[in-house]
Amino acid sequence: MISRIDLRGATGDPRDLLPRAEFDVEAALEKVRPICEDVRHRGVAALVELTERFDGVRLERTRVPEAEITAALETLDPKVRAALEESIRRARLVHREQRRTDHTTQVVPGGTVSERWVPVDRVGLYVPGGLAVYPSSVVMNVVPAQEAGVPGIAVTSPPQKDFGGRVHPAILAACALLGVSEVYAVGGAQAIAMFAYGTAECAPVNLVTGPGNIYVAAAKRLLKGRIGIDAEAGPTEIAILADDSAVPAEVAADLISQAEHDPMAASVLVTDSLTLADAVEVELESQVAKTKHRERVGQALAGRQSGIVLVDGLEQGLAVVNAYAAEHLEIQTRDAAAVAARVRNAGAIFVGRYAPVSLGDYAAGSNHVLPTGGCACHSSGLSVQSFLRGIHVIDYSREALAEIAEHVVNLANAEDLPGHGDAIRARFDWTVPGSPVT
Ligand code: NAD
Repeated sequence: MISRIDLRGATGDPRDLLPRAEFDVEAALEKVRPICEDVRHRGVAALVELTERFDGVRLERTRVPEAEITAALETLDPKVRAALEESIRRARLVHREQRRTDHTTQVVPGGTVSERWVPVDRVGLYVPGGLAVYPSSVVMNVVPAQEAGVPGIAVTSPPQKDFGGRVHPAILAACALLGVSEVYAVGGAQAIAMFAYGTAECAPVNLVTGPGNIYVAAAKRLLKGRIGIDAEAGPTEIAILADDSAVPAEVAADLISQAEHDPMAASVLVTDSLTLADAVEVELESQVAKTKHRERVGQALAGRQSGIVLVDGLEQGLAVVNAYAAEHLEIQTRDAAAVAARVRNAGAIFVGRYAPVSLGDYAAGSNHVLPTGGCACHSSGLSVQSFLRGIHVIDYSREALAEIAEHVVNLANAEDLPGHGDAIRARFDWTVPGSPVT
C-alpha cells in the first residue's frame, strides 16, 4: 500500500530521493488563465457560467444573503457550535499575541524612524469546499485577519450541489459566529479572480489568503502582484519523525488523518526502526479498511508523494525532515521536545504523542493554513502578520538632515544620481544646478 524508501547509508542531499506530490502549479496556470480573463472581462456573468461548469450549480447571485448566514447558525448542531466556539477562543488567544506593536527609533537627536503596522484595507479569504468542507478554515483565516484589525473581510467558498447549490451551512454558521456577513458562493480559480478584479457584486480586495486545490493555487500565483497572497497552501502533508518508542497504531492513524483530505495528500514516516516501519504498515492495512474515506486515503498512501523513509538514526532523520520541510511535522521520539528544537524547516511542529496534527487542524490554537510542497523552508503559515504591512515613517529636523547631508550627497554621486544630492542641497544654502535656490 505505502512504498518504502531506504536512505540508510545514503549521503548527500536527500531532497531528490524523498517522496513529493506531482503538484504542477505551472502546468495549471495555462488552465486558469482563460478563467481569470473571463472573470476580469465579464464579471458576474462569467462567474455564473464557470460555477455551472465546474460545480454543477446555477447561481442566482454570487453573494450569499445575510439572512441565509444567520439561519445557518440557528440550525447548527449545538455540539459543532460549541466546538467552533472553543476553536475560535483558542485561536484568538494565540493570534492576539502575534500582533506587532508600533515602535519609534531615535536615530539621532531630531531624527526618528518609526515602524507602523497597518492592516490591509480589504481581504478575500478562500475556504475550500471541493472534496471536503472546512468550517475550521473559516476560523483559521478570519481570526488572524480580525486580530490584525482588517476592516473589510470577505469570505468565499464553493457552492455545494448537495446543499441546494448553497455554501455549506457549517461554513456559513462559522462566518456568523465570527461576525462575518460578506460571503460569496464561488470556488476555484474564478473565486480568486473575483477577488482580484472585483465584479458588480464584489469589490476587489488587496490580499487573498487561504488554502485550496491546484486551480486555486495557480490563480493565486497568476494574480500575485495585482493582489497580495499568503504562501501557496496546496494538498496537505504530514511527516512523522519516529523512533522505536512511537506507538504504531497512533502513527498509522495520524498518517491516515491527513491522507483523508485528498488523494494528492502526502503522508510520510521517517524512522530508524524497521520494527516500527513493519508495525505501522500492518496498522495501515487494518485501519484503512475501516476508515470512511478509504478510497481517497488508499490513493494518497499509495501515491508517489507518500512513503516510509528508513534512516540510519536520529541525525539522518533530522536531516531528512529538514530537507523535506513538511507542512505538518510530528515528532514521535524519545525527548521529543529536544528533537523538535532542532527542526529548522516545517510549517508547524507537533511534539510528542499528545499533540497529533488533528489537534492543530481544529483546536490547538495554532493556525492550520500552512505552507506545503517544501515552501516551509522560506515561508510561514498564516498569522496576524500576514495581514499587516510595516510602514516606515521618517521624521528628521533641519539640523538632523544637515548632519547627514554630505554623506547622502556623496552616496548619490557614487551612484551617478546627482539629482538625489540636489534634493538635499535645495533645502540648504547650497547652489543647485538649474535651480534658483540660493
Ligand atoms: P477547493 O475549494 O480548493 O476547490 C474546489 C473548486 O475547484 C471547485 O469549486 C471548482 O470550481 C474548481 N474546480 C474543480 N475542478 C476543476 C477543473 N477541472 N478546472 C477548473 N476548476 C476546477 O476544494 P478541494 O478540491 O477539496 O481542495 C482543497 C485542498 O485544500 C485540498 O488539497 C486540501 O488538502 C487543501 N487544504 C490545505 C490546507 C492547508 O493549510 N495547506 C488546509 C485545508 C485544506
